[in-house]
Amino acid sequence: MINYESTRGEAPPLAFADTLLAGLATDGGLYCPVEIPELPELDPEMSYAEIAELVMWPFVEGSIEREAFHTMVVDAYRPFRDDAVTPLVELGANQYLLDLSKGPTLAFKDVALQLVGRMLEHELGNRGGEAMVFAATSGDTGSAAIEALANRNHLAITVLHPLGRVSDVQRKQMTTVDAPNVMNAAVNGTFDDCQDLVKAAFNDPELREGLRLAAVNSINWGRVMAQIVYYVVASLRINNMSAPISFSVPTGNFGNVLSGWYAKRMGVPIDRLIVASNRNDVLTRYFETGTLSTRDVAPSLSPSMDIQVSSNFERLLWEASGRDGAAVAALLTEFRSSGRTPVPQGWTELIRAEFDAARVSDEDTLAEIARVHNDLGLLLDPHTAIGTRVARDLAQSGVPMVTLGTADPAKFPDAVEQATGVRPPLPAFLSELFDRTEQFVEFDNDLATVAEAMAAFAATVAASSPGDSAASSPGDSADSSLGDSGGNTHTR
Ligand SMILES: *Cc1c(COP(=O)(O)O)cnc(C)c1O
Repeated sequence: MINYESTRGEAPPLAFADTLLAGLATDGGLYCPVEIPELPELDPEMSYAEIAELVMWPFVEGSIEREAFHTMVVDAYRPFRDDAVTPLVELGANQYLLDLSKGPTLAFKDVALQLVGRMLEHELGNRGGEAMVFAATSGDTGSAAIEALANRNHLAITVLHPLGRVSDVQRKQMTTVDAPNVMNAAVNGTFDDCQDLVKAAFNDPELREGLRLAAVNSINWGRVMAQIVYYVVASLRINNMSAPISFSVPTGNFGNVLSGWYAKRMGVPIDRLIVASNRNDVLTRYFETGTLSTRDVAPSLSPSMDIQVSSNFERLLWEASGRDGAAVAALLTEFRSSGRTPVPQGWTELIRAEFDAARVSDEDTLAEIARVHNDLGLLLDPHTAIGTRVARDLAQSGVPMVTLGTADPAKFPDAVEQATGVRPPLPAFLSELFDRTEQFVEFDNDLATVAEAMAAFAATVAASSPGDSAASSPGDSADSSLGDSGGNTHTR
């Protein structure tokens, strides 16, 4: 059985299911597997779900039963709109796109969250507990988390988004999900304000315990684990793992590309892992200078990568340090307080040996979308286009290069239309998204108000849980409780 250790070395090691519920470790670190297992026997004819179960099993063994895990994996990948789950598209000589956008919310976060939601429900069912997932979103995480958790037992979810600052498609994907255990809250403020509210709630032991808070943001190990699978799948499909391939990964929080590093450790023949960033290029600057330094976030055409502190990078630092939790804690404390810290040269050498990085401006992103549309008749979303641009720039002859496609173009129609003149339509199953009724509560940027509404919401969820025939209809109960707690309810 694999245990998980915190990157800051102080929190007690935990089993898989405990890290799932814990999110952040109590010492502020991130949980990482103590052992990295070797790949099992695989065969390119296997389905995505079969490969997924075999690749992930050693990470969860001893913590979740095999039969239950099998069922959850199969169920998690059934809603995907392609039999391959993550179809591989050839873009040119030795250039491929692995399309990760076929899940219910049209972005790669579905691949991990569809499974994580099921595992959380299963684990809480076993323990007889309940949890309130609390998340802030700038767009994609919120809808993927809501879609993964809506109508699940033992779980409710509250998602904060900055009022008027997410795209219409993104907001509607969150606020039109009609489930009794989902609360959408629009905060009068920025994404950073939303994130600060969530952090403040987790740092307040009374709220954390009282509301039984749980997290599904990208620091959750379960997400990193589930993303390892598609690196394995790409390598199997391209050359049955017979020769190294490289990956270009549109990067924000470093979760996706970190999964590639774990895949390589498990034995997938990977040559380079390329961190592709937009103008918010904290990682690219680090690769160039060896120093981590933050700047203010500047909005870009690829908003899901508008991040200046890439949380999951901490896991790589921990590995590069030889798993020296005290050294990692000291380095990150300095980084948080001064916004700038040099990384020990030995660590940086190890990291540079496996990763490359490059940034792409908004202008070049638009040019890349236009080029791919012209040459191949294919529409790319702006995040994926950053990946394909870097993939071409850094390609090495003879080494297949795979760009991870992180979103469907219909999620970012304005940028795509600006680049190509073509407005990508939503897939049929979402075509009436704009006719559906939206429900969200509006709050000022104030933790006490939000927490009070969450407590009232948790009480209605408990009252309307499945099998309780006395409960009023979900819409009614949510409305009345929120109305009582000072929020401003919107239905439209
Ligand atoms: C979240 C997201 C990313 C960034 O992924 P990380 O794991 O945070 O690096 C890139 N593209 C899209 C479309 C996303 O939603």
